[in-house]
Amino acid sequence: MKRRKFLRNSSLTAAGAISAPILASYHDQIEPEIKTNTPVKPITVCTWNFKNATAKSWEVLKDGGSALDAVEQGVRVEEADVKNETVGKGGRPDRDGNVTLDACIMDKDGNCGSVVYLQNIAHPVSVARKVMEETPHIILAGKGAEQFAYEQGFKKEDLFTESTRRQYEEWKKTSKYETTINIENHDTIGMLAIDKNGDIAGACTTSGMAYKVGGRVGDSPIIGAGLFIDNEVGGATATGVGEEVIRTVGSFLIVELMRQGKSPQEACEEGVKRIMKKNEGRKDFQIGFLAINKLGETGGYCVHPGFTYSQFTEKGQKNVPVDSFYQKQ
Ligand code: ASP
Repeated sequence: MKRRKFLRNSSLTAAGAISAPILASYHDQIEPEIKTNTPVKPITVCTWNFKNATAKSWEVLKDGGSALDAVEQGVRVEEADVKNETVGKGGRPDRDGNVTLDACIMDKDGNCGSVVYLQNIAHPVSVARKVMEETPHIILAGKGAEQFAYEQGFKKEDLFTESTRRQYEEWKKTSKYETTINIENHDTIGMLAIDKNGDIAGACTTSGMAYKVGGRVGDSPIIGAGLFIDNEVGGATATGVGEEVIRTVGSFLIVELMRQGKSPQEACEEGVKRIMKKNEGRKDFQIGFLAINKLGETGGYCVHPGFTYSQFTEKGQKNVPVDSFYQKQ
């Protein structure tokens, strides 16, 4: 392993779980600039410029709240926003006219919960958290997930809005199924956060592809694909065509690449490149990856230009554009 990479790796693991004597000998080898590399915390980031979501998440973190509460509260903002037609209430339906939601959440201890194909419930991420905390299971699907949600006190809601119903009626005229490249600022929200204790958590929530085949589940609620957290290393999340992210187990891959010494930026680039290797020359889909490491360093990369991520730290909030595999034509 190259010296720089080894050193970066050492400082990363040092923030995690190496015993004191080993740490001391590693520290001797650390270059001065890395010694001064104090972790950025708290910090919250999410896919796309969902600034209301990172603002909410930051509110939780700055008051000393946990990363887990921060990501749940943060993504709930988008689930509740009916103007966001790819997440929660107001999400676009499948081709049969059913609005079906997918979400997952993961904490610092590797606990996780997920719901797939959930109907009539506006906050799937909170149901996913209940699955994690109140059941011995990780994934609940469809009717079972919905029944569980009611038992946990969630209310039944019509997830259609006037706008999504109108668009669906329009879509039915042609019923054209296509996975369009989303370069606009609204899509699946995947959020990663580090709290004041340096603990990492993540959440991801979506209504999936618009007019998908009934029963289709994407990457977003699949631990390792749409989201993965390892508190010793960092976290990653994804947006875009879920099938491609699942085939590469994208978020797990990115965390493992960071474990091997890559920066979040390098890891996201490698993740997209792996996908493109299996899809040589293909240009009809978008993927965006977002990652954070234990030091609070962040990175992102995507297939087509347009993907950005929102970030909030004590220095304030910003929208960060990321580089892409293909350039603008
Ligand atoms: N990843 C989501 C899915 O495949 C959709 C998206 O991010 O646009 O369901």
